[in-house]
Amino acid sequence: MSSDKDRRIDKDSFRDHLSTVDKEGKRNWIFPKKPSGRYYKARNIVAVLLLLLFFSGPFITINGQPILLLNIIERKFVIFGMAFWPQDLGLLVFGALSFIIFIVLFTAIFGRLWCGWACPQTIFMEMVFRRVEYWIEGDRAQQIRLNRSEWNWNKIWRKTLKHSVFFGMAFLISNLFLAYIIGKDQLFTIITDPPSQHLAGLASITVFSGVFYGVFAFLREQVCHFICPYGRMQSVLLDNNSINVMYDYKRGEPRTKPQNRDDLGRKATLDDLGLSPETNYGDCIDCHQCVRVCPMGIDIRNGTQLECVHCTACIDACDDVMDKINKPRGLIRYSSENAIRKENGKNFTPRVAGYSSILVVLLITFFTFLSMRADTETSILRQPGTMFQKLPNNQYSNIYEVKVINKTFEPIQYEVKLLQPGGELTPLGDFSEVPAQGSTKGRLLVKLPVELLAGSQTELTFNVYANGEKVETITSGFIGPNL
Ligand code: SF4
Ligand code: SF4
Repeated sequence: MSSDKDRRIDKDSFRDHLSTVDKEGKRNWIFPKKPSGRYYKARNIVAVLLLLLFFSGPFITINGQPILLLNIIERKFVIFGMAFWPQDLGLLVFGALSFIIFIVLFTAIFGRLWCGWACPQTIFMEMVFRRVEYWIEGDRAQQIRLNRSEWNWNKIWRKTLKHSVFFGMAFLISNLFLAYIIGKDQLFTIITDPPSQHLAGLASITVFSGVFYGVFAFLREQVCHFICPYGRMQSVLLDNNSINVMYDYKRGEPRTKPQNRDDLGRKATLDDLGLSPETNYGDCIDCHQCVRVCPMGIDIRNGTQLECVHCTACIDACDDVMDKINKPRGLIRYSSENAIRKENGKNFTPRVAGYSSILVVLLITFFTFLSMRADTETSILRQPGTMFQKLPNNQYSNIYEVKVINKTFEPIQYEVKLLQPGGELTPLGDFSEVPAQGSTKGRLLVKLPVELLAGSQTELTFNVYANGEKVETITSGFIGPNL
């Protein structure tokens, strides 16, 4: 019979190894039991809504523009129907910073709610691919049996069917993913035109399909364990007040199998936990249902762990066990470390207050910049490599290069006027119309009489008009002789 010390060492052994790696360093394949229960039902509803949103996203438009387009190739970004250009980098930095602080704040309060309920990796893995797997290969026990069996006809057709369906779904996801990058119209052109005309597009679809297939058929929980940066940051984002999927160790310990309850060295275990010897057996019957159902292969009874994606499968599994043994539900539940210890169940801590203040400042800055954003972006720079020209009537001239970006979805009529210090401005060529979401380049000739020169460097101020409305004021330098 093992001693108390042995039992303690065994209990802590989870700290020394990864649940998905065996003693030889090979992958421990996880066969999670099919979850069922109230949280699983709720997650199903959320997943269906999110999948509907994801699949309809490229077809939803606002003012004729997609709701989300992240065209990295052409450096064009549309968010909620508003176009953003690389020139809006400052604005996007504030937007990204606000988003990061929001994530930090959200995680500090609600833990990994995002991972379990809304992350595309979890939604596709647990609600789509895993379901197909259960449908073709059966639940945990059947899957383990099938994997251990010889390559017979039953195994061949099930594995072939499963991987064919997986690849088909990965292909569909990759098409949709591409629609968010290049837009649905361009994707439709790639699909319908002869393949030889869109080799790069078809290569992208093939590569994305391969990546998604690899992620959902093989990598699976390894993405959350090792690749996702959000998962890796949990240890610094969470604190004792964060809401997590928690095992109530005060209620559950000492865990004891029903058949062992009379034989337990009860006093020693209770002393270890600092509980009174009068305390009864814990509610945990050590049935391992919460472990079997976990897609990350961990035991939530070991406490909050980096691997836990808060999928709530263990809550459902344990609630089911509690129902069967006539104990109250919630031995595993959404709670915080402090709430379980009954020390302090508050969520609005000084840390949360600090993050909230930073978030408010960033959001105010972001929306101020957004409201001030012009429909055009103009640069007026003296043409490189040119000097001033002396003209008759004591005038001097400089040539300028103008670049105009139209951030709107309509073409605009464009005009530049010299505001200060006076003088004459002549466009060299016609660049008065800028196409929708396009840009145009042109040159300007500026003539200044000598009395307006402020030495070798004179500051010029231009007003820029789009469709007759002043949209920007730009300054540039005019070089002249050293008078
Ligand atoms: S499912 Fe509940 S009772 Fe069973 S081992 Fe897990 S925590 Fe204990
Ligand atoms: S421990 Fe529970 S909540 Fe966390 S991943 Fe496993 S089953 Fe999901």
